[in-house]
Amino acid sequence: MNQAVNANLFTRLFDGLDDPSRLAIETHDGQRISYGDLIARAGQMANVLVARGVKPGDRVAAQTEKSVSGLVLYLATVRAGGVYLPLNTAYTLNELDYFIGDAEPTVVVCDPSKAEGIGALAAKVGAKVETLDASGKGSLTEAADKAETAFTTVPRAADDLAAILYTSGTTGRSKGAMLSHDNLASNSLTLIDFWRFTKDDVLIHALPIYHTHGLFVASNVTLFSRASMIFLPKLDPDLIINLMARATVLMGVPTFYTRLLQNPRLSKETTSHMRLFISGSAPLLADTHREWFARTGHAVLERYGMTETNMNTSNPYEGERVPGAVGFPLPGVSVRVTDPETAKELARDEIGMIEVKGPNVFKGYWRMPEKTRSEFRDDGFFITGDLGKIDSQGYVHIVGRGKDLVISGGFNVYPKEIESEIDAMPGVVESAVIGVPHADFGEGVTAVVVRQPGADVSEAGVLKGLDGRLAKFKMPKRVFVVDELPRNTMGKVQKNVLRDQYKDIYTK
Ligand code: AMP
Repeated sequence: MNQAVNANLFTRLFDGLDDPSRLAIETHDGQRISYGDLIARAGQMANVLVARGVKPGDRVAAQTEKSVSGLVLYLATVRAGGVYLPLNTAYTLNELDYFIGDAEPTVVVCDPSKAEGIGALAAKVGAKVETLDASGKGSLTEAADKAETAFTTVPRAADDLAAILYTSGTTGRSKGAMLSHDNLASNSLTLIDFWRFTKDDVLIHALPIYHTHGLFVASNVTLFSRASMIFLPKLDPDLIINLMARATVLMGVPTFYTRLLQNPRLSKETTSHMRLFISGSAPLLADTHREWFARTGHAVLERYGMTETNMNTSNPYEGERVPGAVGFPLPGVSVRVTDPETAKELARDEIGMIEVKGPNVFKGYWRMPEKTRSEFRDDGFFITGDLGKIDSQGYVHIVGRGKDLVISGGFNVYPKEIESEIDAMPGVVESAVIGVPHADFGEGVTAVVVRQPGADVSEAGVLKGLDGRLAKFKMPKRVFVVDELPRNTMGKVQKNVLRDQYKDIYTK
């Protein structure tokens, strides 16, 4: 393959860099890494990976805390033609055993504290182990420090794999989504345009880098536009508000926004230097959107994507950012809503399965050809598993995951409809509606409601408030009032945890 057709994401990211001294990343503890440094470090690390046996197409798995070296590892893997496989830091050895066995990486990088346990798993597939700690140091950087910075980026075709990200797998086995160089590059370039990124942007990067949001959306978009990012290990509302004085963009999950709203320092003044607040990975409550606007004068821009598809839709940069909606299909992305049973396309405003097609959509699930086939339509649309609708103005709305649909007495009940009713009641922060086994109805509609501290919210009160507003078959059979809902690190409500917690309530 000659250089002219090299579609390696690394080449596309950094080719034509005119000023290597430009700042790319700064960290909370004062490191400053220029674009030139980043490329040089990626060269050193790519040399180490190749020395450890990584060949084009080989997987490099990483379970490490967030650090600049962790990001360099991603860039170095891609540069060497390898396939980057980031793993959630919360995964236990038992879970890692599956991922490492399934992906058969050539190299596994982990925190020094886990080297022994992970070493045993890596040995089963003949993988070499390197370490990287939370400060970005370990055997990998020790070796990289001694390696040459020069490295010829391995040419790759547009459809060659750049990364495999395992989906969170709340039902069944976690699946490895295969993402190509062009999937990642094309989506970032689209987003830069859509969100008006320029080299003057400074992104507050407080997301983890094992997930599509922090790794691809945040990092690739920043690097492609020659902007800079401030790397923070985690969400720290006080620190983020301080940084807003010199930053321009925040990308967050909804929890970021609810937590920041709890901080009395959040105001029009403290956010006046910012140009854009973006939210995704889980639904941003319409109330949070409104409250944010009232406090800061900024309308949060909500977008919708998933590991398998990168970003699909976004509220507009100019034009109305509608609370509770995820916006329009991005340029080049087709979105349609179909009847889950017949696969026929539905009319505007009708709720059904969201399907997407475009250069952003992944290449399939790693070593699961049948699963891959069953999730694509014959005309190439990917069946997202999300239920939603497109309204008369073309905005896409998400109603929930298909698997969250409750079927009670043979009737389909969309949890979102009931949640919206409950959320509008005084004293209610939010709610989650689930279906749990019920002897008569198959599934019983069940509401778990979070109340504001000290508010008078009760089962009887919620049921009374819903009476007459919902068809009988949609009425919750039980309502539980709690202090908070279980969420994962990306801010998603874990309905599987709730279903498990309440599974016996109608059958005991
Ligand atoms: P993940 O693969 O972890 O990024 O999860 C993708 C899923 O998160 C999607 O299929 C949606 O169910 C959900 N999701 C992402 N963004 C949004 C959003 N803005 N609103 C509602 N759900 C979202």
